Amino acid sequence: MSQREWIEKDFYKDLGVSPDASQDDIKKAYRKLARDLHPDANPGDAAAEERFKAVSEANAVLSDPAKRKEYDETRRLFASGGGGFGGFHPGAGGGFTSTNFDIGDLFGGGAADSGLGDLFGGLFNRGGAGGTTRTRPRRGGDVETETTLDFRDAVQGVTVPLRMTSPAPCTTCHGSGAEPGTSPRVCPYCNGSGIVSRNQGAFGFSEPCDDCRGTGSIIDSPCKDCRGTGIQNRTRTITVRVPPGIKDGSRIRLAGQGEAGLRGAPSGDLFVTVHVRPDKVFGRDGDDLTLVLPVSYGELVLGATVSVPTLDGRVGLKIPPGTADGRVLRVRGRGVPKRSGGAGDLLVTVKVAIPQHLDDQAIDALRVYLHAEKNSGFDPREGWAGA
Ligand SMILES: [Zn+2]
Ligand SMILES: [Zn+2]
Repeated sequence: MSQREWIEKDFYKDLGVSPDASQDDIKKAYRKLARDLHPDANPGDAAAEERFKAVSEANAVLSDPAKRKEYDETRRLFASGGGGFGGFHPGAGGGFTSTNFDIGDLFGGGAADSGLGDLFGGLFNRGGAGGTTRTRPRRGGDVETETTLDFRDAVQGVTVPLRMTSPAPCTTCHGSGAEPGTSPRVCPYCNGSGIVSRNQGAFGFSEPCDDCRGTGSIIDSPCKDCRGTGIQNRTRTITVRVPPGIKDGSRIRLAGQGEAGLRGAPSGDLFVTVHVRPDKVFGRDGDDLTLVLPVSYGELVLGATVSVPTLDGRVGLKIPPGTADGRVLRVRGRGVPKRSGGAGDLLVTVKVAIPQHLDDQAIDALRVYLHAEKNSGFDPREGWAGA
């Protein structure tokens, strides 16, 4: 039997005993009910048969002290709202993987009037449940936000403040929803489970408890600042430390920085998608920084030392004589800092810049040069397949 079934079923109610009944009381209650409801004693009575099954199921768990303890704890976790629900957040717990829940079902028309509908609408996943409301995720929702960094900040790492307005635990009642000095009490109707089981003919089904609106607890004096929800919209500034070398489109997870849970339940997580503004000079290829260096034909032919920018200054880049246009030269250790220590390289692509406006002297010199080039045996199309 899954944890969810445990939570939805009230075995104590099935046996007509209180949750603190002794093992002996449970045994006595079961024996009496089993005798009264036994199919042999009630031939053809479908309702009695269903009750008999429920009683047997309840006894199977409650008569075993170890199982009973587990059952009690599971229900307490689910009902408490005091932070114990953490183990059940969507995706983590066995029975809670599909948690589609529409708070509108619980709060009815009154919720919208009071503004609660909007507040809670953002806290839970809506829709998709096909009309059956089964579980109540109380953990706060995850929050998605984004930030845009300058290229160099992203490469070198930076701390950014993020201003966010989102539901957070009420500061007045610390998220309990109860007026300071008072505390919520366990809902007597559903015994704190927030769910009541009804039997209709052969079908048993569960629905949120009307008395406590599915929360499992009743607040007699609601906190005035949060109207009993335990949640206030607050603008917070969160400092996000972005590690060096983060890539455009990366997502950073900040555990527990999402929306507050209902009545003090754990908060969701904050996910920050990081966008990186392109840089005018540098590009990136993994841990390597790239840049395109404009050079003259003469610099490639004769060789030169050219000053190039790095993230933290400049270096003199040596271009060997006879370097081909488009060749990539490597400056070791001047790239993106690595998480493991050290850094990638700076990859410099040389690209010949063709002069557009030369004076007569330069043009004359170029003509003389081309003539000399030919005489020295250079043919740019030698060995070219298209020649
Ligand atoms: Zn409050
Ligand atoms: Zn209730």
